[in-house]
Amino acid sequence: MADRVALVTGASRGIGAAIAARLASEETFVFGSATSSDGVARISDALGKNGTGIELRIEEPDSVSAAFDRITEEHTVSILVNNAGITNDNLFLRMSDDDWADVINTNLVSLHRLCKPFLRSMMRERWGRIINVGSVVGRMGNPGQANYAAAKAGIEGFTRSLAQELGSRGITVNCVAPGFIDTDMTAELGEKVTEQLVTRIPLGRVGTPTEVAETVAFLAGEGSSYITGQTIAVNGGMLSY
Ligand code: NAP
Repeated sequence: MADRVALVTGASRGIGAAIAARLASEETFVFGSATSSDGVARISDALGKNGTGIELRIEEPDSVSAAFDRITEEHTVSILVNNAGITNDNLFLRMSDDDWADVINTNLVSLHRLCKPFLRSMMRERWGRIINVGSVVGRMGNPGQANYAAAKAGIEGFTRSLAQELGSRGITVNCVAPGFIDTDMTAELGEKVTEQLVTRIPLGRVGTPTEVAETVAFLAGEGSSYITGQTIAVNGGMLSY
């Protein structure tokens, strides 16, 4: 029986897949979420006996309730990694109400939806770790990403407030803000934009999902017990926090 149970949203690909793989061990059983049954099966295969896939659409309250009920039938989550996210870029004057709402709802409102039910058992146990995946864009801004930047900046404010509310209960709440990481999300930018972006990164390269996962794993463990309300940047020096 594992000591801890984690839920990692958006674990079918990219950063979430790396986080789930990094956390899954004899000590930590990981539920990794995907939006499709194929993704769920891939996660279960990847995690083996130390985890399983679960279907979840974080923007749908019914889907969150169903996942919560399934997980809590037999498990108590004490590590919640809010990683799943989307982009829907456009210059602000061309950004539709739906483009705005979808990104805010999926990336930011979902944190309210997910943290609330899972927090109750962490409060009972007087131990918990909430790690929210933000973005360098939440601090820097980015043309074409007003919706995404607003959501990611909101995640940082949410993180700081929740940390202040929950510190006395032994629960830490932190944000990891990646810079430019090699995943499907950034693949669509193309080679030319990528080359230009890399010139702004002191370490001279894009980051890997594994490099983000290492920081998340640190925040999920005992070694980070005196860190809460922080945003930790994993961005190759692109922006100093
Ligand atoms: P990605 O490769 O596009 O993967 C996105 C993950 O989120 C997938 O597992 C996807 O599941 C899941 N997802 C998408 N929409 C969802 C929904 N409505 N409900 C539940 N799950 C959903 O993205 P990534 O690059 O790994 O990004 C992961 C996180 O890091 C995001 O929060 C992103 O904003 C942040 N981030 C990324 C970068 C970067 O450079 N890549 C930089 C800064 C921050 P399916 O496979 O089922 O679609």
